[in-house]
Order: sequence, then structure tokens, then C-alpha cells
Amino acid sequence: MEARVGIYDTLGVKPVINAAATLTRLGGSIMPEQVVAAMVEASRSFVDIVELQERVGKRIAELTRNEAAYVSCGAAAGLTLATAACVTGTDPALIARLPRELAGLRDEVVVHRCQRNGYDFAVRQTGVRLVEIGYPNATQEWELEAALGPRTAAVLYFAGANFSRGALPLSTVIEIARRRGVPVIVDGAAQIPPVSNLWAYTQAGADIAIFSGGKGLRGPQPSGLVLGRQDLIDAVRMNGSPNSAIGRPMKVGKEEMVGLLAAVEWYLSQDEPALIERYERQVADVIAAARRLPGVTAERGFPSEAGQPMPRAVVRICEGEAKLTRDSLVAQLRAGSPRIEVALAGQDGIFVNPQTLDPGQEQIIIDRLVELLA
Ligand SMILES: *Cc1c(COP(=O)(O)O)cnc(C)c1O
Repeated sequence: MEARVGIYDTLGVKPVINAAATLTRLGGSIMPEQVVAAMVEASRSFVDIVELQERVGKRIAELTRNEAAYVSCGAAAGLTLATAACVTGTDPALIARLPRELAGLRDEVVVHRCQRNGYDFAVRQTGVRLVEIGYPNATQEWELEAALGPRTAAVLYFAGANFSRGALPLSTVIEIARRRGVPVIVDGAAQIPPVSNLWAYTQAGADIAIFSGGKGLRGPQPSGLVLGRQDLIDAVRMNGSPNSAIGRPMKVGKEEMVGLLAAVEWYLSQDEPALIERYERQVADVIAAARRLPGVTAERGFPSEAGQPMPRAVVRICEGEAKLTRDSLVAQLRAGSPRIEVALAGQDGIFVNPQTLDPGQEQIIIDRLVELLA
């Protein structure tokens, strides 16, 4: 703890109490001690990195009830490598053609228009073209059927409640794609909890499921998990570092591989219902305290920011009645010591998300809200 604060002090960087989410721009998540210890241990020896990736993958596959697994340097890199795998398979001659010479290859990835988001850069950088289906608020099965053809490399599906509006259910997508022999890639980067999603998507028939290592799993920030079919994971490996391929700039270190394995082990040993109970208590405390402040209302929000089945507090500021406007409250929280980051809720509210709060940190937020608004 001391050392960590010391380093940031020296640099003039203020540590943040993160009540926003497992955001990359705030550092993702905090690793449990056993994950840090595993990384430190891994850092002390040279190893054969290909062998380590294989052994770690085998162990994670067993733990997550999947055929095969690969540690990527983040879920976004996982998307790139999974896409590449669906285009090239394990053929070195095809792997060498990415990202420019895709003529004659399967060079299209089908995606719901309503699910388009910034992470599709990771898919497009392989050279594939995205083929959109549906409208922003509705998609028909025939639209998926019609989009699948000899050039389709994969269907990309973003899991979670926040991506489901207007989209076909995952089960329908899997059923249609399967019938046509097209792999389905599920991006479940932020869909933990529940940890059962590590096997739910692939058991439902998805060919690949991708998770961020630095979000709910609390592994190393630059780590991700690609899970699924053995032949596709083999192709992911061949497209990845240390091979000279599209994934070479997406290097994964021995520390991240071992750290992510430790994080998966750590999470699977947790009592998830108890964890969510703790979130409920933190949220209830924030709501109770906020309701005592003038011009402030508060309620429980569900599900979370990324659509995970867990609560967050929604605190609304009534302009003119409360001591500060919403925006000045957010600015004051950020300017204080310690610095507090929250998420914005509409025009007049903030979300306080317990997932990234240590037990007790909700009290620091409550004290600061009282200080600013009472
Ligand atoms: C966070 C996120 C990613 C990227 O994950 P990284 O591990 O930060 O690369 C990709 N897709 C979705 C839907 C995400 O929420």
C-alpha cells in the first residue's frame, strides 16, 4: 500500500477512489494479493513463453469448462485474434496475408447494427469488413440468414443486457450460424459477474467467448481471456505473439499469463452471492445517506453499467434545491482528496458503482457527499 502511494506521489499522480466502473481509463480493477504474488513469482525466471501459454491455457480451460483457452493482452486484442483465427485458421500462408490481402478469403464479419461500438476497431484492424444487420431498435432472423454467405468469417455478438435491445437473442444467432457452419464470437468482456458466463456462452454453442482480465476477474489490467473451440484457439495462438503475425504487437508477458490464471482461480474460490450481497449493502448505505441531503433523491439501480446482474446507487441532484449542480458535484468529487470518480446518470444524476469499491470506501464517498451537499 505505502509503496503504491509513494510511486504515485513521486509522479504527482493522485490515486482515485473508483465508483464509476472497471474502466480502462481508471486502471481497470485492483488485483487481489494472490494475483500480485503470482505475477511477482513469474517475473523471476525466464520461461519458454509458448509452452507457458499452452500450459496456462490448458489449466484455464479446465477451470472454465472450455475446450481450450488463450491469454490475450486484453479483451480487445482477443477480438482481433479471434477474428484473425476465423479468417485464416492455422494456415501460415493465410496468416501472412493479414491485414491487406484478403481477396478470396472469408473477409466479412456480421454484426448487429444496434450493437456497433468502439471495440469493433479491434475486429476491423484484421482487414475484414463489418456487415451490419437490423435496425437500431429491431433485427429479424431473415436479416441474419441473408447476411451469411461464402465470405462470412464469423458472427460477432456483444453479450449483456446493455447490448440486447434490438438484437436477436444469442441462442437464435447461434442456432442460425451453426446451421450455416459460421463461427459465433461472443464479446463478454465486462460480463462478470456472474462468473458462470465463463462457460455459459460456449456451452450455449458459441465458438469463442472473450473476457477482459482486468475487469470483473481482477486480473492484470492488460490481460484478456479467449475461450472456446480447440481448433480456433490453435489458430488464435498462431496469429498471436511471439509469432510474426497480426498479433505480434499484442504481446502477452509471462506475468500476465500467470496473473490471469491466478485471477481465475481467485474468482472461482469466491462466494459470488456473498459478493453481490456486499454490493447491495454498500449501495443501500449510499442511498440512505444521500436521501438525508437537501435537494437529493436516491434509489437502487439495476442492472449495472455493463448490464451485469448487480446493483448500483443512483443519486439525483435537483438543481436549485441542492447546494451544487450535478456537474459541479462531479467536479468537486474529482478535485477532492482523495479523488473520487463516479459515472454520470442522465442530466441530473450520478451512479455509485460498488464493483470497484473496497469494503469501506463507500463511507469515504458518503462523507464527501455530506461535506459537499449538506
Ligand atoms: C472493456 C471491453 C472491451 C475491451 O476489453 P479490454 O480488456 O480493455 O481490452 C471489449 N468489449 C467490451 C464490450 C468491453 O466492455
